[in-house]
Order: sequence, then structure tokens, then C-alpha cells
Amino acid sequence: MALLSPAGIATGAAASAGFLTWAVRGRAAQVFGPSVWRGPRNRPAISLTFDDGPSEGTPQILEILSRHGIPATFFQCGANVERLPGIAREVLAGGHVIGNHSQTHPAFYLRAARFIEEELARAQQTIEQHTGARPAWFRAPYGARWLGLRRAQRRLQLTGVMWTVIGYDWKLKADAVVERICRGVSNGAILCLHDGRELSARPDIGVTMEALRRLVPILLDRGYKFEPLSRLLCPTKLPNGS
Ligand SMILES: [Zn+2]
Repeated sequence: MALLSPAGIATGAAASAGFLTWAVRGRAAQVFGPSVWRGPRNRPAISLTFDDGPSEGTPQILEILSRHGIPATFFQCGANVERLPGIAREVLAGGHVIGNHSQTHPAFYLRAARFIEEELARAQQTIEQHTGARPAWFRAPYGARWLGLRRAQRRLQLTGVMWTVIGYDWKLKADAVVERICRGVSNGAILCLHDGRELSARPDIGVTMEALRRLVPILLDRGYKFEPLSRLLCPTKLPNGS
């Protein structure tokens, strides 16, 4: 007879907690919705992404990108677009792509499916209304996915995007951000930085600017080509959400 000892139960609980953490936050996990986290490894191409904008600092990020002729994807929050619609349009005018990062940047963990779908749908509407562009890419706030996200993404025809390397630029110093990205980058990498700080007005994104200014020449020097997500991922079969 197989009886679970208290230690066995504890191990089982720890294992399921570990699985759940991975399912919700793991960059390659597909449990709660399909998402991509890198492009193919056979070309020295990478893609830059920024979350939590637009913010008052976004134009300076655009200037750095334009100086090097580099495209990026900006995962914007609907609430930030409502606050700074002109800056959201500047992103698009700079030749970049706008992705959906929810309306109000909540953690989806333990939330109702309807709440999750409304967050995505409201952001789609807000972004389209203010910029004319309807996002095709979605990044979950905090990278946290949950039940209901798969259906919401499918209904709104959004492809989930995680990242290969995240800069922790909201909490590290510029040196450490540069070092993290340089250590983690490889062919096909999707890099994640932040041109805003959740829904904060006038956030200090000095670390992000400084890190970006230093990173771009280093990565170009190493032979990487910056590509829009759609081109980076093109040779990969995208998950279809079924
Ligand atoms: Zn975010």
C-alpha cells in the first residue's frame, strides 16, 4: 500500500508549486498560452523590446535607436497610451512596432479569465484608437500568465512574446544591466528593457537609457543585426494557440 509520508506530501507540494511557478513565469512555458521567447539560433540576428511605456523618457530611447537605425518593439500599457498618446504615435512614426502590455499592468496570476480578456481587449482598443495600429504581439505584465490568457490571445489574434534575456533595468545599475545582456545574448535573442516603470508618470528611466547607449555599439560590434520581431521570428513556426 502506498502511503504518502508527511515528507512525501511536502515534496509533492513543493514539486507542484515549482511547476506552477514555471508555468506562470517560465520564459519557455506554454501552459497558460502560447508564446515565443527567442528566434532561430542560425543567424546573428536579435530583437530589442521595451515594456511599460510610453513614458516621458521614451523619446530619448527613440533618439538612441534612430541614431543607429535600429528597430524595436514597444509593449505599451493602454493606461500609459491614454496619458501620452502623442509619444505612442512617435514610437510608430519612428518605424517601430507597438505591442500590447495590458491596459493597467496587473499581475494575471489568480485572476478571472474575463478580467484577463478585458485587460487585453481594452489595451488593443486604446492603442488602436490613439495610434491607428492594432497590436499583433502581447507581453504579459511581470511575464505572468494564467488561465484564460490562451483564449484571450486567440480571440484577439495576439501572439505572446516572452524574452531570452531581461535587463532588470528597473532595479540594477547600468553596468550590471549591460553585463547581464552581454552575457545572455546569443543568435535569435529577444532582449527586454523598459521605457517606463509600470504606470508611473515621469518615471526615472536613466539606467535604461545609459545601458542602451552602451549596449548597442557593443552588440553591433559583436556582429549582431537588430531585426523587428516579425522578421526575427519569421523562419520559426509560430504557435497557433490551438
Ligand atoms: Zn511590464
